[in-house]
Amino acid sequence: MAEPVVYFVIPCYNEEEVLPESSKRILAKLSSMRKKGLADSKSRILLVNDGSKDRTWEIIEKLCADHEEFEGIKLAHNRGHQNALLSGLMTAMEKCDCAISLDADLQDDIEVLDEFVEKYIDGCDVVYGVRNKRDTDTFFKKTTAEGFYKFMKVLGVDIVFNHADYRLMSKRALEGLSEYNEVNLFLRGIVPLIGYRSDYVYYDRHERFAGESKYPLKKMLSFALDGITSFSVKPLKLISNLGIIISLLSVFGLLYALFSHAFGFTVPGWTAIVASIWLLGGIQLLCIGVVGTYIGKIYSEVKHRPRYRIETYIENR
Ligand code: UDP
Ligand code: MG
Repeated sequence: MAEPVVYFVIPCYNEEEVLPESSKRILAKLSSMRKKGLADSKSRILLVNDGSKDRTWEIIEKLCADHEEFEGIKLAHNRGHQNALLSGLMTAMEKCDCAISLDADLQDDIEVLDEFVEKYIDGCDVVYGVRNKRDTDTFFKKTTAEGFYKFMKVLGVDIVFNHADYRLMSKRALEGLSEYNEVNLFLRGIVPLIGYRSDYVYYDRHERFAGESKYPLKKMLSFALDGITSFSVKPLKLISNLGIIISLLSVFGLLYALFSHAFGFTVPGWTAIVASIWLLGGIQLLCIGVVGTYIGKIYSEVKHRPRYRIETYIENR
Protein backbone atom coordinates (compact mmCIF):
# COMPACT_ATOMS: atom_id res chain seq x y z
CA MET A 1 0.00 0.00 0.00
CA ALA A 2 1.21 3.50 -0.78
CA GLU A 3 1.84 5.82 2.13
CA PRO A 4 -1.50 7.12 3.42
CA VAL A 5 -2.47 10.75 3.47
CA VAL A 6 -3.06 11.29 7.19
CA TYR A 7 -5.00 14.23 8.60
CA PHE A 8 -4.63 15.20 12.24
CA VAL A 9 -7.81 16.96 13.32
CA ILE A 10 -7.45 19.13 16.39
CA PRO A 11 -10.32 21.21 17.85
CA CYS A 12 -9.07 24.26 19.72
CA TYR A 13 -11.05 26.41 22.14
CA ASN A 14 -9.13 29.18 23.90
CA GLU A 15 -5.88 27.28 23.55
CA GLU A 16 -3.41 30.18 23.08
CA GLU A 17 -1.39 28.86 26.01
CA VAL A 18 -0.84 25.36 24.60
CA LEU A 19 -0.94 25.84 20.82
CA PRO A 20 2.58 27.21 20.26
CA GLU A 21 4.10 24.24 22.07
CA SER A 22 1.73 21.49 20.94
CA SER A 23 1.89 22.61 17.28
CA LYS A 24 5.68 22.21 17.46
CA ARG A 25 5.39 18.72 18.93
CA ILE A 26 2.78 17.49 16.49
CA LEU A 27 4.71 18.91 13.53
CA ALA A 28 7.84 17.06 14.67
CA LYS A 29 5.77 13.91 15.02
CA LEU A 30 4.38 14.27 11.50
CA SER A 31 7.89 14.72 10.06
CA SER A 32 9.13 11.60 11.82
CA MET A 33 6.14 9.64 10.55
CA ARG A 34 6.87 10.80 7.03
CA LYS A 35 10.46 9.63 7.36
CA LYS A 36 9.25 6.21 8.52
CA GLY A 37 6.95 5.96 5.51
CA LEU A 38 3.79 6.13 7.62
CA ALA A 39 2.45 9.37 6.16
CA ASP A 40 2.38 10.81 2.66
CA SER A 41 3.75 14.28 2.00
CA LYS A 42 0.20 15.52 1.47
CA SER A 43 -0.62 14.77 5.14
CA ARG A 44 -1.81 17.79 7.11
CA ILE A 45 -2.51 19.03 10.61
CA LEU A 46 -5.99 20.56 10.60
CA LEU A 47 -6.64 22.98 13.44
CA VAL A 48 -10.29 23.84 14.09
CA ASN A 49 -10.88 27.04 15.98
CA ASP A 50 -14.11 26.55 17.92
CA GLY A 51 -15.07 30.21 18.34
CA SER A 52 -12.22 31.00 20.73
CA LYS A 53 -12.25 34.32 22.56
CA ASP A 54 -8.48 34.58 22.81
CA ARG A 55 -5.66 34.68 20.23
CA THR A 56 -6.10 31.06 19.12
CA TRP A 57 -7.14 31.96 15.57
CA GLU A 58 -4.24 34.38 15.07
CA ILE A 59 -1.86 31.61 16.14
CA ILE A 60 -3.48 29.19 13.69
CA GLU A 61 -3.27 31.72 10.85
CA LYS A 62 0.42 32.23 11.57
CA LEU A 63 1.08 28.48 11.64
CA CYS A 64 -0.68 28.05 8.30
CA ALA A 65 1.37 30.86 6.75
CA ASP A 66 4.69 29.50 8.07
CA HIS A 67 4.28 25.77 7.41
CA GLU A 68 2.61 23.98 4.55
CA GLU A 69 1.70 21.13 6.95
CA PHE A 70 -0.94 23.17 8.77
CA GLU A 71 -4.50 23.93 7.75
CA GLY A 72 -7.12 25.83 9.71
CA ILE A 73 -10.87 26.03 10.03
CA LYS A 74 -12.62 28.82 11.82
CA LEU A 75 -16.09 28.19 13.17
CA ALA A 76 -18.38 31.17 13.48
CA HIS A 77 -19.44 30.32 17.04
CA ASN A 78 -18.36 28.10 19.88
CA ARG A 79 -20.19 24.90 18.97
CA GLY A 80 -18.53 22.60 21.47
CA HIS A 81 -15.83 19.99 21.16
CA GLN A 82 -17.92 17.35 19.35
CA ASN A 83 -19.22 19.67 16.65
CA ALA A 84 -15.82 21.26 16.13
CA LEU A 85 -14.33 17.82 15.72
CA LEU A 86 -17.02 16.80 13.26
CA SER A 87 -16.49 19.88 11.11
CA GLY A 88 -12.79 19.03 10.93
CA LEU A 89 -13.37 15.37 10.17
CA MET A 90 -15.86 16.13 7.41
CA THR A 91 -13.43 18.57 5.82
CA ALA A 92 -10.58 16.08 6.09
CA MET A 93 -12.75 13.32 4.61
CA GLU A 94 -12.50 14.83 1.14
CA LYS A 95 -8.73 14.87 1.10
CA CYS A 96 -7.37 12.13 3.34
CA ASP A 97 -6.97 8.37 3.46
CA CYS A 98 -7.43 8.45 7.22
CA ALA A 99 -7.93 11.08 9.90
CA ILE A 100 -6.85 11.04 13.53
CA SER A 101 -8.63 13.22 16.08
CA LEU A 102 -6.77 14.53 19.09
CA ASP A 103 -6.94 17.31 21.66
CA ALA A 104 -4.97 20.51 21.43
CA ASP A 105 -3.43 20.00 24.87
CA LEU A 106 -1.76 16.75 23.71
CA GLN A 107 -2.80 15.01 26.92
CA ASP A 108 -3.12 11.89 24.83
CA ASP A 109 0.33 10.46 24.21
CA ILE A 110 1.30 11.29 20.61
CA GLU A 111 4.06 8.67 20.59
CA VAL A 112 1.43 6.00 19.81
CA LEU A 113 0.40 7.75 16.57
CA ASP A 114 2.64 5.39 14.62
CA GLU A 115 0.67 2.42 15.95
CA PHE A 116 -2.60 4.02 14.83
CA VAL A 117 -1.37 4.30 11.26
CA GLU A 118 0.25 0.85 11.30
CA LYS A 119 -3.10 -0.65 12.25
CA TYR A 120 -4.77 1.36 9.50
CA ILE A 121 -2.23 0.00 6.99
CA ASP A 122 -3.04 -3.50 8.29
CA GLY A 123 -6.62 -2.94 7.21
CA CYS A 124 -8.45 -1.42 10.20
CA ASP A 125 -11.01 1.27 9.48
CA VAL A 126 -11.33 2.52 13.04
CA VAL A 127 -8.60 2.52 15.67
CA TYR A 128 -9.64 3.51 19.20
CA GLY A 129 -7.15 5.06 21.61
CA VAL A 130 -7.78 3.58 25.04
CA ARG A 131 -6.32 4.92 28.28
CA ASN A 132 -4.31 2.48 30.34
CA LYS A 133 -4.94 4.02 33.70
CA ARG A 134 -6.30 7.21 35.09
CA ASP A 135 -3.69 8.29 37.63
CA THR A 136 -3.43 11.81 36.23
CA ASP A 137 -7.13 12.36 36.95
CA THR A 138 -8.56 13.54 40.23
CA PHE A 139 -10.40 10.90 42.25
CA PHE A 140 -13.69 12.61 41.42
CA LYS A 141 -13.12 12.67 37.66
CA LYS A 142 -11.89 9.08 37.68
CA THR A 143 -14.89 7.66 39.54
CA THR A 144 -17.49 9.70 37.66
CA ALA A 145 -15.92 8.93 34.29
CA GLU A 146 -15.59 5.20 34.89
CA GLY A 147 -19.08 5.13 36.43
CA PHE A 148 -20.38 6.80 33.29
CA TYR A 149 -18.87 4.16 30.98
CA LYS A 150 -20.33 1.37 33.12
CA PHE A 151 -23.74 3.04 33.24
CA MET A 152 -23.76 3.39 29.45
CA LYS A 153 -23.06 -0.34 29.15
CA VAL A 154 -25.95 -1.09 31.52
CA LEU A 155 -28.20 1.05 29.33
CA GLY A 156 -27.19 -1.08 26.37
CA VAL A 157 -25.02 1.47 24.57
CA ASP A 158 -22.07 0.00 22.71
CA ILE A 159 -19.27 2.21 23.94
CA VAL A 160 -15.53 1.53 24.22
CA PHE A 161 -14.42 1.62 27.87
CA ASN A 162 -12.01 4.48 28.68
CA HIS A 163 -11.89 5.68 25.10
CA ALA A 164 -12.52 9.38 24.56
CA ASP A 165 -12.03 11.05 21.20
CA TYR A 166 -8.50 9.93 20.42
CA ARG A 167 -9.09 7.75 17.37
CA LEU A 168 -8.24 7.08 13.76
CA MET A 169 -10.94 6.76 11.14
CA SER A 170 -10.45 5.71 7.54
CA LYS A 171 -11.99 7.62 4.67
CA ARG A 172 -14.85 5.16 4.35
CA ALA A 173 -15.51 5.18 8.10
CA LEU A 174 -15.73 8.97 7.83
CA GLU A 175 -18.14 8.62 4.93
CA GLY A 176 -20.18 6.33 7.16
CA LEU A 177 -20.11 8.94 9.90
CA SER A 178 -21.32 11.61 7.48
CA GLU A 179 -24.61 9.72 7.15
CA TYR A 180 -25.52 10.20 10.80
CA ASN A 181 -27.36 13.48 10.82
CA GLU A 182 -28.06 13.85 14.49
CA VAL A 183 -27.92 17.19 16.17
CA ASN A 184 -27.11 15.82 19.63
CA LEU A 185 -23.72 14.61 18.64
CA PHE A 186 -21.99 11.99 20.80
CA LEU A 187 -19.21 10.71 18.58
CA ARG A 188 -17.91 7.93 20.79
CA GLY A 189 -21.38 6.39 20.74
CA ILE A 190 -21.85 6.73 16.98
CA VAL A 191 -18.47 5.47 15.77
CA PRO A 192 -19.01 1.85 16.99
CA LEU A 193 -22.32 1.87 15.09
CA ILE A 194 -20.52 2.42 11.80
CA GLY A 195 -19.08 -1.09 11.95
CA TYR A 196 -16.05 -2.18 9.87
CA ARG A 197 -12.89 -3.67 11.29
CA SER A 198 -11.54 -1.90 14.34
CA ASP A 199 -8.71 -2.24 16.82
CA TYR A 200 -7.34 -0.58 19.96
CA VAL A 201 -4.17 1.27 20.83
CA TYR A 202 -3.34 1.64 24.53
CA TYR A 203 -1.64 4.74 25.88
CA ASP A 204 -0.99 6.77 29.03
CA ARG A 205 -2.63 10.11 29.42
CA HIS A 206 -0.50 13.03 30.57
CA GLU A 207 -1.52 16.13 32.44
CA ARG A 208 -2.25 19.31 30.57
CA PHE A 209 1.10 21.11 30.26
CA ALA A 210 -0.51 24.56 30.17
CA GLY A 211 -3.91 26.25 30.34
CA GLU A 212 -6.88 24.69 32.04
CA SER A 213 -9.57 22.18 31.14
CA LYS A 214 -12.26 23.52 28.80
CA TYR A 215 -14.65 20.93 30.21
CA PRO A 216 -15.97 22.28 33.50
CA LEU A 217 -18.27 20.06 35.57
CA LYS A 218 -21.41 21.58 34.06
CA LYS A 219 -20.31 20.84 30.49
CA MET A 220 -19.21 17.35 31.50
CA LEU A 221 -22.63 16.59 33.02
CA SER A 222 -24.56 17.84 30.02
CA PHE A 223 -22.24 15.83 27.77
CA ALA A 224 -22.94 12.68 29.78
CA LEU A 225 -26.71 13.32 29.72
CA ASP A 226 -26.55 13.90 25.98
CA GLY A 227 -24.76 10.61 25.57
CA ILE A 228 -27.37 8.71 27.53
CA THR A 229 -30.46 10.25 26.01
CA SER A 230 -29.12 10.08 22.45
CA PHE A 231 -28.42 6.39 22.63
CA SER A 232 -30.87 4.76 24.99
CA VAL A 233 -34.62 4.81 25.59
CA LYS A 234 -34.17 2.72 28.74
CA PRO A 235 -34.85 5.64 31.11
CA LEU A 236 -38.33 5.87 29.56
CA LYS A 237 -38.91 2.18 30.20
CA LEU A 238 -37.74 2.69 33.78
CA ILE A 239 -40.53 5.22 34.28
CA SER A 240 -43.13 2.72 33.03
CA ASN A 241 -41.77 0.05 35.35
CA LEU A 242 -41.83 2.41 38.28
CA GLY A 243 -45.47 3.18 37.43
CA ILE A 244 -46.37 -0.51 37.43
CA ILE A 245 -44.65 -1.10 40.76
CA ILE A 246 -46.35 1.86 42.40
CA SER A 247 -49.75 0.82 41.02
CA LEU A 248 -49.25 -2.61 42.56
CA LEU A 249 -48.09 -1.14 45.86
CA SER A 250 -51.14 1.09 45.90
CA VAL A 251 -53.27 -2.01 46.36
CA PHE A 252 -51.63 -2.43 49.73
CA GLY A 253 -52.17 1.25 50.44
CA LEU A 254 -55.81 0.76 49.59
CA LEU A 255 -56.13 -2.26 51.85
CA TYR A 256 -54.46 -0.39 54.68
CA ALA A 257 -56.76 2.58 54.22
CA LEU A 258 -59.88 0.37 54.19
CA PHE A 259 -58.64 -1.48 57.24
CA SER A 260 -58.05 1.76 59.16
CA HIS A 261 -61.49 2.96 58.09
CA ALA A 262 -63.19 -0.25 59.24
CA PHE A 263 -61.63 0.02 62.68
CA GLY A 264 -62.43 3.68 62.94
CA PHE A 265 -58.84 4.98 63.39
CA THR A 266 -59.38 7.75 60.92
CA VAL A 267 -60.96 11.13 60.50
CA PRO A 268 -63.76 11.13 57.89
CA GLY A 269 -62.51 11.50 54.32
CA TRP A 270 -58.95 10.34 54.99
CA THR A 271 -59.40 6.90 53.46
CA ALA A 272 -60.67 8.11 50.12
CA ILE A 273 -57.95 10.75 49.81
CA VAL A 274 -55.04 8.48 50.68
CA ALA A 275 -56.27 5.64 48.51
CA SER A 276 -56.75 7.88 45.49
CA ILE A 277 -53.37 9.55 45.90
CA TRP A 278 -51.64 6.17 45.74
CA LEU A 279 -53.70 4.74 42.95
CA LEU A 280 -53.78 7.83 40.78
CA GLY A 281 -50.11 8.55 41.36
CA GLY A 282 -49.21 5.08 40.16
CA ILE A 283 -51.50 5.19 37.17
CA GLN A 284 -50.26 8.63 36.16
CA LEU A 285 -46.66 7.52 36.23
CA LEU A 286 -47.58 4.47 34.21
CA CYS A 287 -49.30 6.61 31.60
CA ILE A 288 -46.41 9.05 31.41
CA GLY A 289 -44.17 6.06 30.88
CA VAL A 290 -46.26 4.72 28.04
CA VAL A 291 -46.45 8.11 26.37
CA GLY A 292 -42.73 8.46 26.92
CA THR A 293 -42.07 5.16 25.19
CA TYR A 294 -43.88 6.40 22.11
CA ILE A 295 -42.06 9.72 22.20
CA GLY A 296 -38.87 7.71 22.41
CA LYS A 297 -39.83 5.89 19.22
CA ILE A 298 -40.68 9.09 17.39
CA TYR A 299 -37.45 10.58 18.64
CA SER A 300 -35.31 7.85 17.13
CA GLU A 301 -37.35 8.01 13.91
CA VAL A 302 -36.98 11.73 13.51
CA LYS A 303 -33.22 11.30 13.63
CA HIS A 304 -33.50 9.17 10.53
CA ARG A 305 -30.35 7.14 10.99
CA PRO A 306 -29.33 4.85 8.16
CA ARG A 307 -30.73 1.37 8.72
CA TYR A 308 -27.83 -0.62 7.34
CA ARG A 309 -24.70 -0.32 5.31
CA ILE A 310 -23.57 -2.76 2.65
CA GLU A 311 -19.88 -3.45 3.05
CA THR A 312 -19.25 -5.72 0.10
CA TYR A 313 -21.38 -6.31 -2.98
CA ILE A 314 -20.56 -9.38 -5.03
CA GLU A 315 -22.07 -8.92 -8.41
CA ASN A 316 -22.41 -11.74 -10.95
CA ARG A 317 -21.82 -10.46 -14.40
N1 UDP B 1 -12.75 22.16 23.02
C1 UDP B 1 -13.47 22.73 21.96
N2 UDP B 1 -14.64 23.40 22.23
C2 UDP B 1 -15.14 23.50 23.51
C3 UDP B 1 -14.44 22.88 24.58
C4 UDP B 1 -13.25 22.21 24.30
O1 UDP B 1 -13.06 22.65 20.81
O2 UDP B 1 -16.19 24.12 23.69
C5 UDP B 1 -11.50 21.42 22.73
C6 UDP B 1 -10.29 21.90 23.52
O3 UDP B 1 -9.66 22.98 22.89
C7 UDP B 1 -9.42 20.65 23.52
C8 UDP B 1 -10.43 19.52 23.53
O4 UDP B 1 -11.67 20.09 23.09
O5 UDP B 1 -8.64 20.53 22.34
C9 UDP B 1 -10.58 18.86 24.88
O6 UDP B 1 -10.80 19.82 25.87
P1 UDP B 1 -10.07 19.79 27.29
O7 UDP B 1 -8.65 19.36 27.12
O8 UDP B 1 -10.31 21.08 27.95
O9 UDP B 1 -10.91 18.65 28.04
P2 UDP B 1 -10.38 17.59 29.12
O10 UDP B 1 -9.12 16.99 28.57
O11 UDP B 1 -10.14 18.37 30.36
O12 UDP B 1 -11.50 16.59 29.24
MG1 MG C 1 -7.54 17.92 27.85
